Amino acid sequence: MSSCSVRRAPRFTLVIVGALVASACTSAPAVVVSAGAPVDGNSFVVRNVRVFDGDGTRERMNVVVAAGRIMTIGRTTPPSGLPVIDGTGRTLLPGLIDAHAHVPSAASLRNALRFGVTTELDMLSDINVARTLTPRRDRLDRTDLADLYSAGSPFTSPRGLGTQFGLTFSTISRPDEAAALVKGRLAEGSDYIKILYEPGAPLFTTVSRETLAAVIAAAHAAGVLAVVHISSIQGARDAVRAGVDGLVHVFSDSLIDEAFAREIAERKVFVSPTLSIFGAFQSNGFGSALAADVRIAPFLSPAQRTELTKAGPGADHPMAPYLVRFDIARALENVRMLKAAGVRLLAGTDAPNLTAHGASVHGEMELLTQAGLTPVEALAAATRAPAEAYHLAGRGRIALGARADLVLVDGNPLVDITATRAIVRVFKNGFEVTRVLSPSATPPAR
Ligand SMILES: [Zn+2]
Repeated sequence: MSSCSVRRAPRFTLVIVGALVASACTSAPAVVVSAGAPVDGNSFVVRNVRVFDGDGTRERMNVVVAAGRIMTIGRTTPPSGLPVIDGTGRTLLPGLIDAHAHVPSAASLRNALRFGVTTELDMLSDINVARTLTPRRDRLDRTDLADLYSAGSPFTSPRGLGTQFGLTFSTISRPDEAAALVKGRLAEGSDYIKILYEPGAPLFTTVSRETLAAVIAAAHAAGVLAVVHISSIQGARDAVRAGVDGLVHVFSDSLIDEAFAREIAERKVFVSPTLSIFGAFQSNGFGSALAADVRIAPFLSPAQRTELTKAGPGADHPMAPYLVRFDIARALENVRMLKAAGVRLLAGTDAPNLTAHGASVHGEMELLTQAGLTPVEALAAATRAPAEAYHLAGRGRIALGARADLVLVDGNPLVDITATRAIVRVFKNGFEVTRVLSPSATPPAR
């Protein structure tokens, strides 16, 4: 990765010298992107573009954005007077959604947006930070941050998984505590309820099956979703049978059978596999390859690059007896079975753990195709599917009235999923996002 060189041309024009780069970074083709003049306002036309609308594609469309929302999609002549962006040979995607991230500060949301990830679903963080960042999501003004929804504090047992992160929150010991604790979480700003459930895991205690069920029931009684962190098939079985809405990792301690995969589908439980973190724990090199991709590398902060290329925890790591449950080969196979059974799958990364906000969503989509999803299905997993699963109105689709969170890419990700990385422009609330790293985050010259 350190041998990849990138030359930056003026704003919005990125030229990468293919011959030089290709020899050092074999994972990606040369990229030549010329995006034209930036757009100042939040009204414009993308002309003659392939549109992935969340379901499928439509060719040679004119997409009109007015005051930050999609106004028309069609082949009729767009109204005159608006800035026009040429979409020839390009694909317009809904803004991407990371269905499993952790957001310790605004910087995470800035990193996400540079890579076209316009919404992040946080799965455990400091609620005091989260609630300073979530209100902006209802506005349509210019921003350099992705929008945030947050679980805030999780539900876990005393000395359970999650208590080691140093956050201050109440743990739960008994089912009859569930209703009041759920009410408290929602009052402090959680958008949904996240439970950590790890039966049989070494190192940590876990909530009981009865407490798990009581928390899920209390969340539903309060009208919000309940999602569960599991890493074992037993944990998944208990959670699914307790009525959970979603599993925010796939399990990989053992292989799923067809009957259980069907049961998950029939109960309409969604799964965010987070394959990115499974590979990273095992130092499988996927993160380093992503960091070396010439379409990704120039936009990574030094901290993001460090995290992506870091070795996973070794056998002497204090968490090793627990982390042994995470196995990328079994995870891929389980996702393959879930997909075959028709389970709704969401793209999540677990960023920033050994992954990178924004960038790793592109990697996760590739991993989902390795697990048998078609490129259309992988794109839906990062757009429409999480919007539907979490009831995020006006997101995840290019549809009339939707907010103009958009990513314009070169080429056709429906043929090659990695084309999502060839970003030409990102729009948030209809405003073009400056993808240039802030000076403090600019990587040193190599
Ligand atoms: Zn996580």
